[in-house]
Amino acid sequence: EAFNANVVGAKALNAFIVDTPDMAIEAAKAVDADKAAGRTLGKMAGVPIGMKDLFCTNGVQTTAASHILEGFIPTYESTVSSNLWKAGAGMLGKLNLDQFAMGSSNETSYFGNVISPWRRCGGDNAPLAPGGSSGGSSAAVSARLCPAATGTDTGGSIRQPAAFTGITGIKPTYGRCSRWGIVAFASSLDQAGPMARDVRDCAIMLEAMAGFDPKDATSLDLPVPEWEAGLNSDLRGKKVGIPKEYRMDGTDADILNSWDNGIAWLKDAGAEIVDISLPHTKYALPAYYIIAPAEASSNLARYDGVRYGLRELPDGAGLQEMYAATRAAGFGPEVRRRIMIGTYVLSAGFYDAYYTQAQKVRTLIAQDFEKAFENCDVILAPTTPTAAFALGENSEDPLAMYLNDVFAVPASLAGLPAMSVPAGLNKDGLPLGLQIIGNALDEQGVLNAGLAIE
Ligand code: GLN
Repeated sequence: EAFNANVVGAKALNAFIVDTPDMAIEAAKAVDADKAAGRTLGKMAGVPIGMKDLFCTNGVQTTAASHILEGFIPTYESTVSSNLWKAGAGMLGKLNLDQFAMGSSNETSYFGNVISPWRRCGGDNAPLAPGGSSGGSSAAVSARLCPAATGTDTGGSIRQPAAFTGITGIKPTYGRCSRWGIVAFASSLDQAGPMARDVRDCAIMLEAMAGFDPKDATSLDLPVPEWEAGLNSDLRGKKVGIPKEYRMDGTDADILNSWDNGIAWLKDAGAEIVDISLPHTKYALPAYYIIAPAEASSNLARYDGVRYGLRELPDGAGLQEMYAATRAAGFGPEVRRRIMIGTYVLSAGFYDAYYTQAQKVRTLIAQDFEKAFENCDVILAPTTPTAAFALGENSEDPLAMYLNDVFAVPASLAGLPAMSVPAGLNKDGLPLGLQIIGNALDEQGVLNAGLAIE
């Protein structure tokens, strides 16, 4: 009975789109066989994980939470998921997400929103957003439906949902994890990473996920560091930068408090705290919401009703009508909005005014970080300007929704590693996250600072 109640409770969160428990059981059995044969076990031996439904999985439906991919069964496996299976992990199922990873609340999913397992204490009991786009991953790990899950982060989609649900998630340096076989959103920003209960689990899982892949032209040809073995919360001799531009109007007092606590904890761990400036921070959000839709509009051109999933073929329709009907029926409103914005900013008449300008801003933001890291080892900031909001609270107002990404997108534009770690609760008893941003390739520095906070 208790088991059934748990299953019903788990289903109520709507975190999974497809369940594949047999695959997880298979991986567990393989551990027994390996043990019996005296073989060395992989880093993730027997660990049942959730897979964000943005990773193509051989023989298992992959939808990106969009109607246009419903029924699409890949005949290939993404490099990251295949690395995880090689390390011994097994798949419990495919996790819900914002459609094509576009969103910050998991409300743009064709398969319905995910519900966070958290509630405000003493409040209205309103169901809360688990964050997005990796909302199925955050809800599932937070509710302990699985010990870890994959996420992807284009402009915060690992960090923001981790912050909203009291778990840990890290986006590595751009290029650490192969993008091959991950449904593309904005290719110059997309990065995969782990979402788990703590820093150590993230280190272990990231080691399994990362690595050079000749099939991704932007993959970094570098060995994977032993992040788990390198974990060390002694921060003596390290400098932590506090960016003054992240003290923004509209940030909750609770968030600012948790930031101050984080500063105190890192000091206790031996770090020196220094003030830094990232002067172009306020242009990051507008630049992101030009570059990401621009790349999305181009990436999503492939959904034409011929190659994948859905096809709408009205009576007597020709090829053009089939394209139009399929795309109109298949893409949700947020995806259509991004395609429209992206197509507009890439059009001949507006390209220079928007896209070129945004690319220049992107360079300035990367230079801000380069300069800042001359004076510090890692940067500490909030992950989000608020704790989790209620479902429906921002869903009619895309700008309010986009503003939630304000602290997350700068590290994405600069391709830097960044992590969210739980840092206490707000006055309503909801989790808050602190973000640690590291220099390129310094995941170890990020993980170690996170370890000092958790
Ligand atoms: N919320 C951001 C967006 O909607 C980030 C999404 C992501 O990182 N995949 O674009």
